[in-house]
Amino acid sequence: MTLLACPSCDALHDVPDLRVGQRAYCLRCDRMLVSGRQTSLDRTLAMAFAVAILILFALFFPFLSIEELGFGNTTTLLGVAAAFLTGWLIPLTAAVTASIIAIPLMRVGFLVYALFPLWRGGAAPRHAARVFRWSEALRPWSMAEIFVLGSAVALVKVADLATIGFGPAFWAFCAAVVIIAFERQITDSASIWSILDDEK
Ligand SMILES: [Zn+2]
Repeated sequence: MTLLACPSCDALHDVPDLRVGQRAYCLRCDRMLVSGRQTSLDRTLAMAFAVAILILFALFFPFLSIEELGFGNTTTLLGVAAAFLTGWLIPLTAAVTASIIAIPLMRVGFLVYALFPLWRGGAAPRHAARVFRWSEALRPWSMAEIFVLGSAVALVKVADLATIGFGPAFWAFCAAVVIIAFERQITDSASIWSILDDEK
């Protein structure tokens, strides 16, 4: 038995040792408390790889296409960010690029470093617990969804002036945003911490 507080509503639960495939949910608010160790590693790593692939795809494929009076142009995600690299907008552009690209990719790197060896049945790498804590600490700063919302609003405003098309990178980025949002709900930090604790 382990005493666990629900991360959403703080209700305390006595959680028995779970068998493979079992999950424990909060009695009050239904949030998942623990999902078993292998499942939690499977899920976290699957999401990390999916996010990495989608963001890398979004970097190199067309993000937007704009057409006006027969002239067309396409741009990538980095091209969108680079368009604002002038004067006082440079720090803002750097912050936006970090929060939509660098921080999500850093979190993926941390998770894969800390958890992939465990998932393969090996020992935890050096400083695995610290690296996992970094990835948790970066979570609020990974703000890809804000960017998607902002782009959508901006594009609706210029839609009258030119024909705007979303490229494959835009949809890949949207998929990454959905996965990142989902990840917050189902990452089972309690199980991962208990694995890392045992490895010390
Ligand atoms: Zn709860």
